[in-house]
Amino acid sequence: MNADPADQRKLLDLAELDGRIKRLRAAKANPPQAARVQELLAQRTTQTHELTRLIGLRDDLLAELARIEADVAVVDARAERDAQRLATSANAKEAQSLENELASLARRKSDLEDGELSVMERLETADSEVAAHEALIAATNDEGARLSAEAKTAVADATRDLEAAERDRAAIAAAMAADLVAMYDRISARGPGAGLLRRGTCEACMMVLSGTDMSAVRQAASDAVITCPECGAILVRTDESGL
Ligand SMILES: [Zn+2]
Repeated sequence: MNADPADQRKLLDLAELDGRIKRLRAAKANPPQAARVQELLAQRTTQTHELTRLIGLRDDLLAELARIEADVAVVDARAERDAQRLATSANAKEAQSLENELASLARRKSDLEDGELSVMERLETADSEVAAHEALIAATNDEGARLSAEAKTAVADATRDLEAAERDRAAIAAAMAADLVAMYDRISARGPGAGLLRRGTCEACMMVLSGTDMSAVRQAASDAVITCPECGAILVRTDESGL
């Protein structure tokens, strides 16, 4: 194929824009924050399960505390009734039996109160664990919200830059020979589409052309479209080519 050398030089602009378009598409599809946002979502699920478990433990302790308090109330009611009966009892044997029971109820109440104290201490620990976990989840949510907002901005920036690059590319391609652009598109579908030949090196693949290849390039007409023997990219010749 033959093409205007000026058009061939424009292939370098197309190749540069195509590289940029590829990077912007990747940035748009997968902003740098995306991986961490996914991690945070998984982390929040784990943290939420753990919070549910901790709240369950705290609820168990609250239920235990309520049971002990109910038991204390029963003991108190019984002690009050016994004390009233004792106050009015004229029977020494009954009085003795009531005193024994009152002593036993006092021991029972003391045991219950010891148990109550222990449950309250555990409850305090459980409360602080629930609060600490809620703070962890809040921190996860905050980081997630911040990164999501950053990702949204990054996607919007990439989208805007991508549209500009695509417009530039369309404008450059429209001003070039259609068959040259078609050839470039075919080649760039599987690798670099064009590369500058600089001092005997193809800049698309960085291979140094052999003496034989270089003399073939020297002999080719200036409007001949030549390709790199290594990577297949269209070799664009300029004053820097070393010909
Ligand atoms: Zn090459």
